[in-house]
Amino acid sequence: MCKIFYISAQFTYNMSEQQPTIRDFDFNLIWEYFIQFERQGPGCPQATLKALSFIDNLSNESKIADLGCGSGAQTMVLAQNTKGIITALDIFPGAINKLKKTTRELGLQHRVKGIVGSMDDLPFEESQFDLIWSEGAIDSVGFEKCLTYWKSYLKSGGYFAVTNLTWFTSDRPAELEKYYLNAVPVIGTMGENLSIIQKAGYKPVAAFSLSEDCWTDHYIAPQEAANEVFLKKYAGNKTVEIFISNLRYEAELYSKYKQYYGYVFYIGKK
Ligand code: SAH
Repeated sequence: MCKIFYISAQFTYNMSEQQPTIRDFDFNLIWEYFIQFERQGPGCPQATLKALSFIDNLSNESKIADLGCGSGAQTMVLAQNTKGIITALDIFPGAINKLKKTTRELGLQHRVKGIVGSMDDLPFEESQFDLIWSEGAIDSVGFEKCLTYWKSYLKSGGYFAVTNLTWFTSDRPAELEKYYLNAVPVIGTMGENLSIIQKAGYKPVAAFSLSEDCWTDHYIAPQEAANEVFLKKYAGNKTVEIFISNLRYEAELYSKYKQYYGYVFYIGKK
């Protein structure tokens, strides 16, 4: 999921209940918060590597796109475990700046290019990519919409590998549904998502759910450590207080209801 955008949606909702208007909510503030972390959504290197193990068409010549790359945690794992050229795209310029800095630090600048752009308006030519990657970002635009749109940018026989927020059960606790359906309008079960993959014209190759530590160790724990510092920096700022309490609520929901939902990595072939 696009953590960045879905938080803003939930935040808008809370704000309207608590009087301040959306004008008090600052997208740059959210990014100031998230840019301090290695990741901006749940995920971990082990899951990236597991997904990569299903891709068998890569060579030195391969072209890979990482869409909604954030500051590039998974981009670096891809670069260090493949030999092709990676184009990493995100809508937020600050994320791309951080990605470029990391790329230089790791000596990967000849193989990783960062660009600012939108995943639903790609600045690429058709049939260009051997692999399209996306972690934690597709649901800001929509799973079905993106898979359908991205297909023309893949070569024949090319792969996609994306994580998507997924219901694990057919019934969910009302509290969980209320929160997530407000934040992410369409959430499907794994079966529903596999049907979407087929409907969009791909062969499903694999699907597996991310392990708990992708959320707890790599996403929630770094936030817990940073929240007090952020609150102190913005002491008295109601907007920041609501924002942080929202994140804490999300973490609480995960600990209470993780058996009902999570991220699933979907891999498909054109
Ligand atoms: N892949 C990273 C970031 C996930 S957060 C990780 O797993 O750590 C979701 C990212 O999607 C954010 O960086 C956000 O800026 C980006 N994003 C949201 N909507 C987008 C769009 N329409 N086009 C490109 N990037 C987008």
